[in-house]
Amino acid sequence: MADINDRLTSVVGGRTAKALSESFGMKTVADLLDHIPRRYVRRGELTDLDSLRVDEHVTVMAQIDGVKLIPFRGSRNRTRIEAVVTDGTAKLNLTFFNQPWRVKDLVPGRRALFTGKVGTFRGKRQLAHPDYLLLPADGDTGDIARMFAGSLVAVYPATARVSSLTIMRTVDLVLAGLGDVPDPVPDAIRAKHGLLPLREALEGIHKPYTDAEVAAARRRLKYDEAFVLQAVLAQRRLHTESLSATPRPATEDGLLAAFDAKLPFELTAGQLEVGDVVRRGLACFYPMHRLLQGDVGSGKTVVALRAMLQVVDDGGQAAMLAPTEVLAQQHYRSLLDFLGPLAGGGMLGGSDKATRVALLTGSLSAAARKQALLDIASGAAGIAVGTHALLQDKVQFADLGLIVVDEQHRFGVEQRSALLDRVSGERPHLLVMTATPIPRTVAMTVFGDLETSTLRERPAGLQVIETHVVGEIDQPSHLERVWLRAAEEVRSGQRVFVVCPRIDDTGQAEDLQDEEGDPDAERPSLRTVVETLAALKDGPLSGCRIAALHGRLPSDEKDAVMRRFGAERGAADALDVVVATTVIEVGVDIAQASTMVIMDADRFGVSQLHQLRGRVGRRGQPGLCLLVTRSEPGSPARERLEAVAATSDGFELARIDLQQRREGDVLGTAQSGLRSSLRLLSVLRDEDVIQDARRDASEVLQKSPDLAAHQALLAAISRFQSEDRAEYLDKT
Ligand code: ADP
Ligand code: MG
Repeated sequence: MADINDRLTSVVGGRTAKALSESFGMKTVADLLDHIPRRYVRRGELTDLDSLRVDEHVTVMAQIDGVKLIPFRGSRNRTRIEAVVTDGTAKLNLTFFNQPWRVKDLVPGRRALFTGKVGTFRGKRQLAHPDYLLLPADGDTGDIARMFAGSLVAVYPATARVSSLTIMRTVDLVLAGLGDVPDPVPDAIRAKHGLLPLREALEGIHKPYTDAEVAAARRRLKYDEAFVLQAVLAQRRLHTESLSATPRPATEDGLLAAFDAKLPFELTAGQLEVGDVVRRGLACFYPMHRLLQGDVGSGKTVVALRAMLQVVDDGGQAAMLAPTEVLAQQHYRSLLDFLGPLAGGGMLGGSDKATRVALLTGSLSAAARKQALLDIASGAAGIAVGTHALLQDKVQFADLGLIVVDEQHRFGVEQRSALLDRVSGERPHLLVMTATPIPRTVAMTVFGDLETSTLRERPAGLQVIETHVVGEIDQPSHLERVWLRAAEEVRSGQRVFVVCPRIDDTGQAEDLQDEEGDPDAERPSLRTVVETLAALKDGPLSGCRIAALHGRLPSDEKDAVMRRFGAERGAADALDVVVATTVIEVGVDIAQASTMVIMDADRFGVSQLHQLRGRVGRRGQPGLCLLVTRSEPGSPARERLEAVAATSDGFELARIDLQQRREGDVLGTAQSGLRSSLRLLSVLRDEDVIQDARRDASEVLQKSPDLAAHQALLAAISRFQSEDRAEYLDKT
């Protein structure tokens, strides 16, 4: 009897094993049985042959209608078979060269499964050299009869080299010779959810008798995917708890207390609650790994700053990583603003509790860089803010106790792991912040090794941003009014952002979410920063001080533009209008910006639009966002924009966004390993399954951290980890 972990080479023929390995990467029996049928055909139910398209790989059930053996003239050994199959109405030609013996098989009236690539010959569709499997005749016994025992016949994802029929034959052979299948899911859990034993589920998915059997098998196998994944994540969480970190308990009268005492606003209930959880996490002997999600403007920065101050109070240091230089600058300035004299450590007028904040980015002058590195190494700087320049080996911290990663979705998971890996000895605590609300299911999978906190409310005084959709084609006069309004805002002392999807005609779109759409669709060329800037300068905004901002500018120029845009109105070099790409999306905070105009807004994702508009109307002023589009009224694109205009709830918008995106987009390329390992489970739709599995897996690991009594689960986990599918987890 074969075992599920046996190599395919020892169970099936060498050629088949090689083809399966090269086409699908299958190495073991388990890999083969993981190959789930794409669909099923009903035994004897003929396939509609009219529906077949040229160039498609097809698997069809058809009846043989006629067959002719045609010898080539002049050569006795060379022949051609021309057969015709039918579904009762439409017909399809089959051709075989030099295989005269097949005439015996292709008896008119018999039915068979045929598989191959649809081609054409003399204007008619045909299959050349199809693989086929005859349905058993009455009274037949043996292999074929066994293969067709059920009324459903599995059709597998196949390649030109390995047909669905080959896979079907191989699976049949393997299942027939398979011994006991150890079940990774403990009996009690299986019973609790009414799930089939694994062996039955494998039979049910590959060789079902009824649709109900398929459904029950899928339910079981889907649960398995969730369960093994969650077991891996639970193991990682346990592992984190087994690492040691320096506890950084809060002190009574340190920097944090001084900061809280002079905070100009009341913390929201959510900020207090999350603050509490973080405070306790930092006081633990193992590293805190926490994800903090909160909509744009929900006040994450204060939460992070308070955590950093707690660590500084304890003699440690905190590093805050931002995805871009602009954002690092911005954080640096807002931390200095928040801290005031508390950031004046070692300086005249600094408070006696004060620390110092160092900024480290790639574009510092040599002298500034040297000073920052010194302050970080000596510990004089309690807080270091920077881009990934902070990750370089040259940066030595005196005592790094906490890493804050802002806007995680922009920060490569690899960079996050690089950061943790390079810290030798005790692990720092980790706080990851994101403004893109992550659906619970994704949080439980992709970020499943992090504990999660959420800020749901916005601080009082933060305005909702009034949002309108402007149809360029159907409401041309509205577009004129957009620019009149922008000019008016500038006259009253406000700042205006104009966002375009592209820098110029040559460049790639900067970061569009829906770019993969239909590549062949006829699309008007997208608005560019360069063209829009020129048009506004010489047109409706001719009186305004206006500049461009995009990712291709050198970083000192970007910083200068941001600084001028945020400068006092009276300043000689102040800017009124910035025409930008999405470089401004993440976290940029310009107090005076009241208005944002987004060109070709339909080309951005829903969540992205929400992030973008979060840049205006901060600090208690009303904000205005105008979504300019050339999409048709009533079109799906237009409706997405209307949805953005209608709601200000980032979580609701994230949900809408997800419904329109595919699984792969959600998991992202960094998570491609996970994507390829999930066959039945959808991280978008299977919240219940994921939740059950998470609870079950945690319980199992809680009771038996080494899984000694769960050998089958251990084997499943090591299979999961041995493949590149575990890569995404290793990075987090
Ligand atoms: P985000 O979560 O987008 O990073 P920020 O931390 O930048 O949000 O906060 C948005 C704005 O709200 C900032 O100007 C900040 O000073 C302000 N803010 C934060 N917490 C409060 C609060 N409890 N009450 C009033 N304003 C707050
Ligand atoms: Mg922020």
